[in-house]
Amino acid sequence: MTIAGCAQISCERSEILMGTVVTLQAQGGDAQLAVDESFKQIAELEENIRADVKRIEDAAGKEFVRVSPDVFEILETAQIFNGLTGGAFDVTCGAAVELWGIGTDKARIPSDAELAVVKNLVGANHLHLRDGTAYLDLRGVKLNLGGIAKGYGVDLTRNIFNRYGVKSGLIDFGTSTIYAVGKKRIGIKNPRAPSELSKVVELENAALSTSGDYEKFFIADGRRYHHIIDPATCAPADSGLRSVSVVVDGSREHCAMTADILSTAAFVAGRERAENFLGVSKDFVLE
Ligand code: ADP
Ligand code: MG
Repeated sequence: MTIAGCAQISCERSEILMGTVVTLQAQGGDAQLAVDESFKQIAELEENIRADVKRIEDAAGKEFVRVSPDVFEILETAQIFNGLTGGAFDVTCGAAVELWGIGTDKARIPSDAELAVVKNLVGANHLHLRDGTAYLDLRGVKLNLGGIAKGYGVDLTRNIFNRYGVKSGLIDFGTSTIYAVGKKRIGIKNPRAPSELSKVVELENAALSTSGDYEKFFIADGRRYHHIIDPATCAPADSGLRSVSVVVDGSREHCAMTADILSTAAFVAGRERAENFLGVSKDFVLE
């Protein structure tokens, strides 16, 4: 589905990509070309990720496989931040994400035995990277790039907007990760009333990412089970936070990918542990 509205110097369009509604707004420069090229490259990125993740998982326990440069960069960054966040951010959490199935029609509370099996299949130490190739050293380990790939897509788009001379605009990957070209005011949802805003932040050439327990969840026995997994327990993170928003300045390369990672990681780590790594950001809101 495409919702389009483009004039010569201003363009706004939405497409469903990377599991979310991507909305691109551009003004100035070759706005329309910038938006067209961005959607093309985001679709390519999505396909590269899908194909490479499958190939890495299929070759688990057997051999290293060559991946696209985009996917290699995503995995390399994920491993660096796994270290910086004390393990809170971990793209090898795929088996745990699948077991809980949150956000799908298969969502359920797994048994202790199932959790024990999955705990052996989650761990950044299982992922090895070398010269553009990747290897999982144990069969059954699954990669999940849901907490990083959208940020990478925002950065990719930002670079395209830059090349086409876009003067102002908004790159919005389903409100979870956003980049403002120029100045924009962005609302942060109230985690317990997501149709209302709890805060408005002013972004100027900066990325904003929000992770919360209200996007995908189910409630059972009065407890909320959501989609952000604590790799230490392989269960939904229980750090006491409901929502984390992180702003990373555009002067930093890969600012949106960094914001995307940090909001998920801080949500898992909780207030105290997150202090160790949120210094990378320009601003943050923990609720
Ligand atoms: P959203 O995708 O709604 O923007 P996040 O950016 O916080 O939310 O990413 C959450 C997604 O990241 C989950 O749906 C899952 O795919 C993946 N994920 C869950 N827990 C972790 C984790 N501890 N580390 C890395 N990725 C995770
Ligand atoms: Mg994230």
